[in-house]
Amino acid sequence: MTNERHTRREFLGIAGAGVAGAATGACFDSVPLGQSNEVNKDPQSADLVVYNAKVYTIDDGAPGAEALAIKGGRFTLVGSNESAKRLMGKGTQTLDAKLMTIVPGFIDCHNHAGGNILLYEVLVGNPFTVEFVTIASIIEKLRAKAQATPPGFWVDGYFFDDTKVKDSRQLNVHDLDQVSKDHPVVVHHRGGHTSFYNSKALELANINKNTPNPAGGTYDRDATGELNGRITDRARSVFEKVGKRATFTEEQKQQRNRDGLAHISKEFTRFGLTSVHHEGGDLFALQQVRARGELRHRVSYEVSGSMLEAMITNGIVTGFGDEWIKLGATSEHTADGSFSERTMAISRPYLDITPPYKGNVTETQEDLNAWVERVHRASIQVNCHANGDVAIDMVLTAYERAQKLYPLPDPRPKITHCTLINDDLLKRIKACGAVPAPFTTYAYYNTDKFHFYGEDFMKRSMAYRSFLDAGIPAAAGSDFSPGPFAPLMGIQGMVTRTGWNGQTWGANQRISVDEALRVTTLNGAYASFEEKIKGSIAAGKLADFVILAEDPHVVDKEKIKDIEIVRTVTGGTTVYQA
Ligand SMILES: [Zn+2]
Repeated sequence: MTNERHTRREFLGIAGAGVAGAATGACFDSVPLGQSNEVNKDPQSADLVVYNAKVYTIDDGAPGAEALAIKGGRFTLVGSNESAKRLMGKGTQTLDAKLMTIVPGFIDCHNHAGGNILLYEVLVGNPFTVEFVTIASIIEKLRAKAQATPPGFWVDGYFFDDTKVKDSRQLNVHDLDQVSKDHPVVVHHRGGHTSFYNSKALELANINKNTPNPAGGTYDRDATGELNGRITDRARSVFEKVGKRATFTEEQKQQRNRDGLAHISKEFTRFGLTSVHHEGGDLFALQQVRARGELRHRVSYEVSGSMLEAMITNGIVTGFGDEWIKLGATSEHTADGSFSERTMAISRPYLDITPPYKGNVTETQEDLNAWVERVHRASIQVNCHANGDVAIDMVLTAYERAQKLYPLPDPRPKITHCTLINDDLLKRIKACGAVPAPFTTYAYYNTDKFHFYGEDFMKRSMAYRSFLDAGIPAAAGSDFSPGPFAPLMGIQGMVTRTGWNGQTWGANQRISVDEALRVTTLNGAYASFEEKIKGSIAAGKLADFVILAEDPHVVDKEKIKDIEIVRTVTGGTTVYQA
């Protein structure tokens, strides 16, 4: 046990750093990450005191403080250096924050948390930030993978972004033919709705230039009518049945899922996230990662499919679990297409597309009503994905109907993305108490795509200003992998509405640094009914916080995303240190 503890401490680089995690003894079966086994037995003194800090608490009662005291994984005091020093006893760890900034741990309310892909797959784009790549680099990475892969087996590339390519042209079938003629090759767009294939893949799937487009998808063609390799949405399903794929034993699958989750947990805390709403994933592996002391962030686990059925059938409701892994809302139930890949359902045709195209509605109102009512009646928090104004209207119609048929005192239905709004939708969102979770990093990361919609639409998109002015507690939803999850990049985008390319879109939706911090912390806690236990720095709440090298209120607003995360602390335990 001693050895194991030592290893973990070294692993985190905190040995001798003057602070270690508090002994919470609360949530883990095993010793939590970075936690000391030496429980501070003095009831009067704190486990950890952080002083000389510039604390933004996001607590209206006491917005600022100099010091924090923590015991049993919770804040016991938030106040002056003087008052905190009184809680220092023999067993107390202390940390001089040297006037650095402390904010509550960040909360991401929509994340696909694909750790396995980050860990095991070929990444042809940068998952975390804006980086332009060359088509040659994509070919080279995939060629290396093909050389290590038996012929006939798939070669996959992930995190491609069509507007982050130095060559300023679309990736195509000829590029991917240079990877291999003996392997089916595919490059997946990070948005999740389009993919690019080589000739071998097309041949195996028996797709040629005369193949008609199926419902809900397209085989795209170049100017001469030949297939260009880009295939969208449902047209991709034929590829699932062809070619060979690596197979894994149950044990290997579990191992990969555990390692993937442990890996992404590390990545989350590196960026300051202490709570993440997971879109499904392997719940068994998640619990094992936790038991091993490798879960660094708290999980609101969002269910779908057989697990949602099991909850409904067995009377399990939102909130089941504990402070580390808790059943949250449902996974996003999809009502329309994608914002970044331009398939969301909008009320006027897209610019420059003929014949006129208004995006994809992916479910009938009738089916949506039935699904929402069933989940709502089971007292499970409903969560629908709706990007376009048409889809948001449909989702609200279903929420209003369910609430009328079966009133619940505080249902807080989530609207994931809730991208394009208008005044009428705003009123209805407010009236039914829905919680939108708009894209966070898009305002910085995806400005190269906003001309597809135009300024008129961007004034009403990712409408944080409108939501807050209407008294709607909008939360932050990165939608990783489509968007990077870095909370500071998200905050910068909310504050500036200016992207990596210097373009500003929908400046009317700017919010202040304080507001953006609240969106990314306390409002996230509200979205999972946990605002009483986390989301702000106040005595009694879980000791989740981040130490920043610089104050986002003070630095140049265009540099907020570059502020160094010095330390991330979950439940009083240091889970990341720069
Ligand atoms: Zn999503």
